[in-house]
Amino acid sequence: MTDAANPANATTESALAPTPGHGRVLLAAPRGYCAGVDRAVETVEKALEKYGAPVYVRKEIVHNRYVVDTLAERGAVFVDQTFEAPEGAHLVFSAHGVSPAVHEEARSLSLKTLDATCPLVTKVHNEVKRFARDGYHILLVGHEGHEEVEGTAGEAPDVTHLVDGVEGVEKLPDFLHNEKLVWLSQTTLSVDETMEIVKLLHEKFEHLQDPPSDDICYATQNRQVAVKAIAADSDLFIVVGSQNSSNSKRLVEVALQAGSKAAYLVDYAKQIDPSWLEGVHTVGLSSGASVPEILVQEVLAFLAERGFSDVEEVTTAAEKITFALPRDLRPQHN
Ligand code: SF4
Repeated sequence: MTDAANPANATTESALAPTPGHGRVLLAAPRGYCAGVDRAVETVEKALEKYGAPVYVRKEIVHNRYVVDTLAERGAVFVDQTFEAPEGAHLVFSAHGVSPAVHEEARSLSLKTLDATCPLVTKVHNEVKRFARDGYHILLVGHEGHEEVEGTAGEAPDVTHLVDGVEGVEKLPDFLHNEKLVWLSQTTLSVDETMEIVKLLHEKFEHLQDPPSDDICYATQNRQVAVKAIAADSDLFIVVGSQNSSNSKRLVEVALQAGSKAAYLVDYAKQIDPSWLEGVHTVGLSSGASVPEILVQEVLAFLAERGFSDVEEVTTAAEKITFALPRDLRPQHN
């Protein structure tokens, strides 16, 4: 019940968290691990099993603190640059993908590479290659400095132009009418914001072509739809995920845009400030695509201890997608 629905109690109750059993949690589904993250994490686990520690991983395998720390404890060594892995070592490329230049560098160092790039990121790489080959300029909607964008743009750096946010549209050069133009995107963007940017791109470049299919992946889209479904009924929205996780950050933005009064991103339950719960009756809860369910369960336990024990899961889609492991780690190769 909201204060507005019970005005007689608004002043006295609004400053307090609900008494046990009176607070409600709306739990978004789908949430958490997507097929690409599942595959990437399993790639490192299987590589450790098959080859033994250390197995080197270029960048964070997925953008989640807990996942990275857990794999590091098991013998994964995370490096920022390819050359930090010793010659001949096993090196895993993260789910975000890498440019051809990075593949080449790994080859020159005789590294044994395992590619955990999500197949849906690889799909965008292939689109960049194809459109570049066909003479297009590519307007890549995405966040500057994000590893996925660096890898994707690296497929055709001379003809790929990054569009970072609405402001990025103005920064683009003027393309002539006879120059072929197509837009593509990072896989983990806000669907609504991307559509706004694309609308501006179409206004600026009348001859701009749309991509053959969506680049924002099914998991990103499904998690945003699930958050939207419950955000308006939430006084507070908690998204479990790391600060450098693009899709997790987008969920916080989506929750606020869809009507939640407040929204926060936390890695762990212990980061929840109890003062956030003051006057709150309904908490919306979700997690980014790189977040293991155990972290969500810890948040649910934290909330239950503070009176939010009525949990309702709201499901907006069923996900059945899985991706096969890199060839060298499939069972027949053991
Ligand atoms: Fe792949 Fe989408 Fe998951 Fe990224 S969020 S790893 S693109 S399924």
